Amino acid sequence: MLEYDDHLAVAVSGGKDSLTLINVLAKLESRFPKSHVTAISVDEGIDGYRDEALELARKSCRHLNIKQVIVSYRELFGVTTDEIARTNLGQTPCSYCGVFRRKAINKAAANIGATKIATAHNLDDEVQTVLLNMLHGDPMRIVRSGPVLRDPRGKFLPRIKPLCDILEKEIVLYAYLNGIEFQSVECPHGHEALRNDIRAFLNQLELKHPGSKFTLQRTAERLRNSLAETVPLLELHQCEKCGDPTPHELCEACVMLEAIAA
Ligand code: SF4
Ligand code: ZN
Repeated sequence: MLEYDDHLAVAVSGGKDSLTLINVLAKLESRFPKSHVTAISVDEGIDGYRDEALELARKSCRHLNIKQVIVSYRELFGVTTDEIARTNLGQTPCSYCGVFRRKAINKAAANIGATKIATAHNLDDEVQTVLLNMLHGDPMRIVRSGPVLRDPRGKFLPRIKPLCDILEKEIVLYAYLNGIEFQSVECPHGHEALRNDIRAFLNQLELKHPGSKFTLQRTAERLRNSLAETVPLLELHQCEKCGDPTPHELCEACVMLEAIAA
């Protein structure tokens, strides 16, 4: 995943996973003089939730002597997640928030000249997403996820997930043992019912049959490798509104912004 001279843009929300990741990467960076780590924090505009997380992220970056860049939905898109949640657009706020976050991080990473984007998805997140994609009837999405995502067209920065083989409970343990202060309250909009059910199911399965999550992860990896050969690479154009690469006339975020403005 990593090269000795990488400049990593690390998505740091202030939760246990991202603060653990930035702590580990800061240690690694100190051993490789040509490498850089910059934290990118996104302010989605969620009252009573994001402010505390951003403050914890700020404290951690200061302590680690890591530069932090904060980007906000208000500045980039003119709308906050709280405002989106108050509209009646038929999709969960998370659907919009996830697309906007990806775009915000891509933009910030490109601005600082990063060579890769690192996110703190853990093993639990990864296997939940695999099952979620299957239950949404969209198995091809598995191809577009995974521990390392490289765009052969060179239009998007590579994305890596260094914690993708680590169980969530082990990350919590690491954070506690290393005195990492993280945000523990949950986002008020994050009630994706199906993901919660999948999480509960996988935790029960792991308890009865230890190793199930790893097996599922390995199976997904094999599926991903076989499926990748069958999926044609779409040609990318520039989004007519923002100029970002997209296979359509407008990128997903611009389509969403149009729907919100309508
Ligand atoms: Fe955004 Fe949903 Fe995450 Fe909340 S839980 S920060 S709304 S993606
Ligand atoms: Zn666009």
